[in-house]
Amino acid sequence: MILPSKFQDETEKSDKPSPPLDVSVAFPQATPASVFPPSVSDYYRFDDLLSPEEKTLRMKVREFMEKEVAPIMAEYWEKAEFPFQILPKLADLGIAGFNTEGYGSPGLSITTSAIANAEIARVDASCSTFLLVHSVGMLTIASCGSEEQKQKYLPSLAQLKTIACWALTEPEYGSDASAVNTTARKVLAVSRVMVAWQPIGISMGVYDMCLRYLKERKQFGAPLAAFQLNQQKLSLMLGDIQAMTLVGWRLCKLYDKGKMTPGHASLGKSWITVRARETVVLGRELLGGNGILADFHVAKAFCDMEPIYTYEGTYDINSLVTGREITGFASFKAPEMSKHSRL
Ligand SMILES: Cc1cc2nc3c(=O)[nH]c(=O)nc-3n(C[C@H](O)[C@H](O)[C@H](O)COP(=O)(O)OP(=O)(O)OC[C@H]3O[C@@H](n4cnc5c(N)ncnc54)[C@H](O)[C@@H]3O)c2cc1C
Repeated sequence: MILPSKFQDETEKSDKPSPPLDVSVAFPQATPASVFPPSVSDYYRFDDLLSPEEKTLRMKVREFMEKEVAPIMAEYWEKAEFPFQILPKLADLGIAGFNTEGYGSPGLSITTSAIANAEIARVDASCSTFLLVHSVGMLTIASCGSEEQKQKYLPSLAQLKTIACWALTEPEYGSDASAVNTTARKVLAVSRVMVAWQPIGISMGVYDMCLRYLKERKQFGAPLAAFQLNQQKLSLMLGDIQAMTLVGWRLCKLYDKGKMTPGHASLGKSWITVRARETVVLGRELLGGNGILADFHVAKAFCDMEPIYTYEGTYDINSLVTGREITGFASFKAPEMSKHSRL
């Protein structure tokens, strides 16, 4: 189709990317998430339960995310693009593959893996999903692949020179993934624990952002943090985070001892995602209109939370896995429709 020259000029103009808005100029009252707020959600000193190595890795990952990813994440999220330039530095953290062992993989404990992943999700859930799916791909090759496949793929995957994806869902089979074999089920159990830690990280970042924002922005002559209703929301969020963290931590310990059942993993994932959904909704309310802008992080976290509610088993399916374990009745299949129904 040939457009009249007036329209062609307009089209050309609109194709040119407009310069990013400097939010700190447009909204000087609060610091945007490109300068990520300090981590302040560990109210019950969960850190005390970690080993020195776990604490060190946690700080290393936190520093990387705040320095390298926070300044660019809103821009890439708005563009729906992935910042591939961060991969070499992300690889240097030595965590790609998480608990995958051998062939250059990190072989981290499940607790260390979960904490590192939560630190990534605290700043950018998209980045944490990227690394998690990549790592589940690595774990699947390590658990189910041939010797040749392990040698061929794992070393370069561990260095993020090759990127993995992981495909279970098919157009005809989403929640109904019952045909997978036993080894694949074990991989799924690990990834369910890891996914349960993403909402924990997301909630931590949202809380950090909200607390700073409420202290900085003033209305009615006082910081938003001084209003009782806002304090109540912060308390609810903080309580959720403490509870989620301890459930997630216990899940890791059960896994380490070989005592984690499918029901445990599913309850952890389903319950944590519900609490995290509640937490990000409160955060979104606390930021008012800025709660729907990516620049202040919470809107992005709010959206990133939604797929986690669905992938790695939807909330419903995970509830049914736990339900089957505690009742002895599987209720995944709909009861047959009775031909003689009196309704
Ligand atoms: C962002 C994102 C990333 C993803 N990444 C991957 C990936 O990397 N690899 C991969 O393999 N898959 C991936 N998935 C797919 C994901 O695992 C599926 O979307 C999920 O398993 C649900 O399947 P479905 O979408 O087909 O929903 P359906 O199975 O069609 O379910 C639709 C609704 O019905 C409910 N439902 C279904 N069956 C029952 C039942 N028996 N009882 C009660 N309720 C039921 C569900 O809970 C849901 O609410 C991803 C999904 C998203 C959103």
